[in-house]
Amino acid sequence: MLKCSLCINDERTAKIKIVDGNPICKECINYLAHKPDKEKIRAELEELMSKVDKAIVAFSGGKDSTVALYLAKEVYKVPELEAVMIDHGFMAKEAIENAKRIAEHLGVPLTVLRYDYSDIFRDALLKAKSPCKKCSSRTMERLRKYALRKGVRYIITGHELPFGHHPYRLMSDGVIQIRLLSLMSEEERFKILKKLPFKPPELAGYTTNCLILGPALKRYYEKHGYSFETRRIAALVRYGLIDKEKVLKKVNKPEIPEDIEKEVYKRLGIEKKD
Ligand SMILES: [Zn+2]
Repeated sequence: MLKCSLCINDERTAKIKIVDGNPICKECINYLAHKPDKEKIRAELEELMSKVDKAIVAFSGGKDSTVALYLAKEVYKVPELEAVMIDHGFMAKEAIENAKRIAEHLGVPLTVLRYDYSDIFRDALLKAKSPCKKCSSRTMERLRKYALRKGVRYIITGHELPFGHHPYRLMSDGVIQIRLLSLMSEEERFKILKKLPFKPPELAGYTTNCLILGPALKRYYEKHGYSFETRRIAALVRYGLIDKEKVLKKVNKPEIPEDIEKEVYKRLGIEKKD
């Protein structure tokens, strides 16, 4: 099987072509053809953040949104900030504890909005699909509506990949999503986390907040033989935000503590066959 010589995609996750004798995936070919100007993206982020007077931070209590909240408060010193956690019903209790502790530590008010995303999660586990895209677009929509109600124009999130060539995107009704961690490496993020009272939970998969990701990754792996996180992590490798050698373990089949897995299936009303 051909593997991309630049990222971690292979023939299962992307089309691979041979260029100058080396296998390269289509996503890397596109990236190289329209290479984002990292300095320009960073400068744009700085300029935008200097204008933000009032924002909500999409705060899951996970490590990335914790770093985003820290930067918004301590580095960019946004005058009016609110941390908003969308609890989809399957947040790890450690994430909720981290969220409360970090928000208090930084002196940012925390609002928790509770919803039931069981429909998305049940469907993902039954059909061995990734729940992440649906979960995240529903969450962004809830946040957008909340921002509009509160008269806030900016939603800050903890994503490390920019939107193509920009660190922000325009949502409906003039709301703007800012990916505050655009182009920040894993190493830089860990450096910030160390300064904060963040306690990393033991969860499967590339998550510090979600109980669904692990079981969903495992289910997907069993059916397809690879991780649905591969393409996202391949992008991080391509952008040079994470070490290629270090990431391979992140796309292995995850080990899930049996009690967490059972609890998730039970709460979703799915019969688990061994
Ligand atoms: Zn590639």
